[in-house]
Amino acid sequence: MSEFRADLHCHSTFSDGSLSPRQLVELAVTKELKGLSISDHDTIGAYPEALTAGLELNINVIPGVEFSATDGHHPVHILGYGFDPKADSITQLCAKHHDRRNQRNQAILERLASQGMPLDANDLAIGGAKGSIGRPHIAQAMIRKGYVDTVPNAFKRYLREGGQAYASGPRFSVEETLEAIHGGGGLAVIAHPHLIQNERVTNRLLTLPFDGIEAYYAYFPLDACERWLKIAAQKDWFITGGSDFHGDVKPNISLGSSWTPQDTFDRILAHYRSPVS
Ligand code: AMP
Ligand code: ZN
Ligand code: FE
Ligand code: FE
Repeated sequence: MSEFRADLHCHSTFSDGSLSPRQLVELAVTKELKGLSISDHDTIGAYPEALTAGLELNINVIPGVEFSATDGHHPVHILGYGFDPKADSITQLCAKHHDRRNQRNQAILERLASQGMPLDANDLAIGGAKGSIGRPHIAQAMIRKGYVDTVPNAFKRYLREGGQAYASGPRFSVEETLEAIHGGGGLAVIAHPHLIQNERVTNRLLTLPFDGIEAYYAYFPLDACERWLKIAAQKDWFITGGSDFHGDVKPNISLGSSWTPQDTFDRILAHYRSPVS
């Protein structure tokens, strides 16, 4: 029997991934994963399609989300797992992000137009995108129009923080995001701590009431995880792992490249099935 692996971090067409929720669940089965959570940016639109597919294909699917938060002006991604997808606190924060993204995308499009790169809002819908539209969609529309050659170059020049067409839009704090996840009965996990690269922000996050940390991420080597594993042990936090698979959008990363082992997955699954307040 193959080793138990559950990938708790991937993106569907409801945010900036290229596979539908059902296709992600099918791919997880093909890869012999035993559990999956789709963690789209700021939306839970992938559910219930993903939950239905999980039941049909006999793989445990746990509701997940990757919220965009900010600590001061520093972007921080927070994973939520095992919440009630109907919970008001979750659906309300997703709705606020939807408005934030509309405002911000509009501002970015205006900046691009003023620099001779007009795009129509309709140009942003890729792969039938129906949930969170963000900068990766804008980057791909820019490629289709011939304004840039690659997604990284679109970010480097125009879309990164401080880039020529960047706009921030409203921001939501880490604390507000934690409250929403906990209010919906979920567990809150610091996403890819390796990528924060700001000690002040990292140290502050470690003082907040998270439940876990994504110590295993994409293809980061095990020595890059050690700090996070030690912290998780000190705090009795969940140690999760996920690939951050986006399909064709990030072709170098495959589903299951990092994973969550069975004992942790079982505890998160048990929490989801019988949430403790
Ligand atoms: P958004 O959610 O609209 O702010 O876009 C953030 C997403 O853009 C991240 O989750 C990444 O998937 C992607 N991204 C951020 N920086 C870059 C970059 N330099 N090159 C390519 N993709 C990026
Ligand atoms: Zn993404
Ligand atoms: Fe992220
Ligand atoms: Fe992600």
